[in-house]
Amino acid sequence: MRKETKEYNFNWMLWTTFLAASHMKNGTEKEYRSALKYIPSFNLVLEAILSSGEPGQKFLEACAKYTENITFAKERGKKTAITTFCFSPALFYTMDITPVCLEVLSVMMTFIYKRGTAEFLDYCNEVGFTETSCSSQRGSIGAYLAGIGAEVDMFVTDTPGVCDTNANAFSFAAAYLKKPFFQLDMPPDLTGQRSNEYHREDYRALIRFLETHTGKKIDYERLKENLLELTRQDEIIAELEDLARIVPCPLPVSYNFMVYASRFFFAGTPEGTVVLESMQKIARENAAKNISGLSGGVEKLRAFFCYIDHYAQNMQFWQMLDQNGICYQGNILSHFWSHNAPYVDLYHKEEAAYNISMANPDALIDSMSMMNSRMPMVKSIRGPYDAPNMWLEDTLALAKLYRADFIVYNGTPGCRNTWGMVKLLARDTEKAGYPTYIMYSDAFDERVQSWQATEERFMEFLKVRRLL
Ligand code: SF4
Repeated sequence: MRKETKEYNFNWMLWTTFLAASHMKNGTEKEYRSALKYIPSFNLVLEAILSSGEPGQKFLEACAKYTENITFAKERGKKTAITTFCFSPALFYTMDITPVCLEVLSVMMTFIYKRGTAEFLDYCNEVGFTETSCSSQRGSIGAYLAGIGAEVDMFVTDTPGVCDTNANAFSFAAAYLKKPFFQLDMPPDLTGQRSNEYHREDYRALIRFLETHTGKKIDYERLKENLLELTRQDEIIAELEDLARIVPCPLPVSYNFMVYASRFFFAGTPEGTVVLESMQKIARENAAKNISGLSGGVEKLRAFFCYIDHYAQNMQFWQMLDQNGICYQGNILSHFWSHNAPYVDLYHKEEAAYNISMANPDALIDSMSMMNSRMPMVKSIRGPYDAPNMWLEDTLALAKLYRADFIVYNGTPGCRNTWGMVKLLARDTEKAGYPTYIMYSDAFDERVQSWQATEERFMEFLKVRRLL
């Protein structure tokens, strides 16, 4: 890692960037336009976010708040936990722990910095990670391993049995930094009595671990408040998912990302709800006027992404879809499997969904464990790809629900568990009538394939398959 990079605290750097971004519209439109010229590496993504109006503004404020919380956690007397996107942070907020979600920080770094996450990715290899480990953790954990991230108290993750790449990254880093470490395990079956009991008991062990390392007992009143807020968030997400079924889709391309990022940042807290509420307001207005969320106003195609997004600098991925009239009908990260989500009812998937009950302390903990076990990725990639409630079934159900014209896979080269089955998945989705495109780029590292090459190949697929 360059000496210059080590001069800056990683979390402070992200916080000040998002704080400044959230103030960009405080002045006049002329001042805003003039200021954009001074941030050539960030102006496109800022424009894409802020042009969505109030939701974009609220989203930038949420990003600033999330990074501020990490930057000043120690000064404010908070414990910190390094965690993963598929672990719901709602429990951390209940227990007064500041979550430090690696994948979220890697995404932030990827799309705002021209140099991307390369130095952090490579630093991990210098200290012993394999080059084939997932870039989504390496893109930020490198900063903590190099000692330029916030002070960390513990590691908590939940990917053993689902993604060994992810699980190994956290266990390596916890051992390297000599920090306490806890992993929830995910059995290969999502449903059934044995799995449910396992999820619940495992979650109780996690709470005991957190109580030991914070020195505080869980506060059930606070847990209830977080679950109430979570229920409100679930209702809004369910409505947004329902609105996205309308043709033309009233949701702008950026909404999908803002939905799941808000949930990864602030599950069960009002900071996440305000972003979702502002998206709900605009989506309702667009739907009432029967207008498309695309900036050109004309919907030509509807795409479903069966895995994750591409976070290339400046979010050029959004612009590619928007400029070509392609609606973004969601990906695996944007679905949380609450009982009121439209796909649960439509495809009779009640067993795969979670319900929240606040009847007594036990019910509160069980609700949290069920919700956590349905988080993106740990829900649908834990078992064979074509088993019930797993990747193929979910992909086909969601593509059908959103009337997608085609399906796209995008991930990272280190994602061994999805690469091991994606060709079989694509064969089956093609058989079901969906042209399916497998992207060979890295969502977090443009050195694997430049954005220009990625875009060209994507457009070639649409042309060859006569979609556009
Ligand atoms: S992207 Fe793939 S390798 Fe990375 S955490 Fe997800 S499943 Fe694991």
